[in-house]
Amino acid sequence: MADDTTVRVRIAPSPTGALHLGLVRTALYNWLFARQHKGRFILRIDDTDPVRNREEMLEPILRGLRWLGIDWDEGPEVGGPHAPYFQSQRTERYRQVVTELLERGAAYYDYATPEEIAEERKAAQAEKRLFLYSRRWMAETKEQAHRFEAEGRKPAVRLKMPREGRLVIDDLVRGRVEFEWQREQDQVIQRADGTFLYHLATVVDDHDFAISHVIRAEEHLSNTPRQVFIFQALGWPVPRFAHLPVVAEPGSRQKLSKRKMEKYLKNPDFAELVERGAKIARAIGLKTSPEVFNPVMVEFYERVGFLPQALVNYLALLGWSLDDRTEFFTREELLRSFSLERVIGAAASFDPKKLMAFQVHYMLELGLDEKVALVLPYLVKAGLVHSPPNPRETELTRKIVEAAGDRIKVAGDIVDYQEFYIEDDRLSYDRAARAEWLGSAQQLKMVALFKERLSQMARFDRQELERLIADISAAEGVKTGELAQTLRVAVTGKAIGFGLADTMAILGRERCLARLSRALETKLT
Ligand code: GLU
Repeated sequence: MADDTTVRVRIAPSPTGALHLGLVRTALYNWLFARQHKGRFILRIDDTDPVRNREEMLEPILRGLRWLGIDWDEGPEVGGPHAPYFQSQRTERYRQVVTELLERGAAYYDYATPEEIAEERKAAQAEKRLFLYSRRWMAETKEQAHRFEAEGRKPAVRLKMPREGRLVIDDLVRGRVEFEWQREQDQVIQRADGTFLYHLATVVDDHDFAISHVIRAEEHLSNTPRQVFIFQALGWPVPRFAHLPVVAEPGSRQKLSKRKMEKYLKNPDFAELVERGAKIARAIGLKTSPEVFNPVMVEFYERVGFLPQALVNYLALLGWSLDDRTEFFTREELLRSFSLERVIGAAASFDPKKLMAFQVHYMLELGLDEKVALVLPYLVKAGLVHSPPNPRETELTRKIVEAAGDRIKVAGDIVDYQEFYIEDDRLSYDRAARAEWLGSAQQLKMVALFKERLSQMARFDRQELERLIADISAAEGVKTGELAQTLRVAVTGKAIGFGLADTMAILGRERCLARLSRALETKLT
């Protein structure tokens, strides 16, 4: 284990416009490791791809990390001693290092065209052997280079990888991993157009930023030999590596991908989550693309009103466990318990149902005022209350949130209770509910009767309301449940919701009366 004070870890996202769950999980493990060791957590931006090199593509990543409380000590917006933390601004440094690799004989100019490489690859495939570049257009002398250039060729720079022996890596998660050098390609590190590739840039940055531990997704394990080769060729200390299992899709071991929505929607829990999101987005007029507004991306959870602590707790367990029993960890507990040694080797499947269970758990821990504060912004966005909400609206919301209990699983679920906010004379009725529960003369008679008795009630509260409903149902010979449904549709416009007495108590007598009148007056279509 490195000396605690020297622990420096990083994540290195490309600015892709959205924060993927897999990346956040990697970020979280890096962050926990850094904080545990009183080290530094660095955010570096791998923006060598010019199409993606745009600020608005980075913003959602920074925002998502902040929302989850994964703060970085060096990087965009906070700066640091090794600035700039953007690869696009470090090309001069990469140029120097490429020159040094060439001088040391660890890299060479290669004048092959892409077609020639493709041909060699094809031939290898046809012969069912591993493709290894023949180095036919490698120029090691000025004369060779001149000859190729005379043909109009432009050089890329490739690593000159060893072709025998093996590399052993002691991975902090996977243990001993062996690679045979003869299976490693001469990776291009600088393209013929002068741009630099990830493998070079990442090693230079990891060295220059004094990264002690590279904790990253498993898909980079196969990249490690050529990166270690660069470190060693330059005489630089090699960081420790820890390759984390992939975050897999629901019910399989394949990597969770934003491009497989159709497949994931066949999973009922995933579909439910998407539906919940769609409902909330519709209600608050949220226009956002499926690229970011789907459960593979963190933005989805923030927008629909998940609690960051629920997501952090869930993600912590997506590839790590303390003892196969303990599920709930506060941030402090995670900081005490997390260790790379207990990161599992196998892919961890994203389970929307389990995530929801964490969300519900953390919602239950909140006080009423905290929940009200969480839901109010959704009501503002839906145009159901003023901005800022007035005391009457806040009080109404308090009552609704209290009565709803654990029905409000994410903050945005408050939009299920729109009917309370709509002005009484503008209440609309669900067509099917109205046909079923307000369609007959008998049902309307019940509404009228109830209305009359309600206006005469001495005390207006839940118990009295319950008594009144029971009285009428006994006297008129209708089932209590049926009478309640009729009245529910009359005062809320819908056949679903929490207890009728609760609903009416929240609305208050005047609003109930106004709504009962409206139900009686509105012509049935
Ligand atoms: N930009 C790379 C990625 O997001 C970084 C990989 C690494 O951590 O070395 O996959």
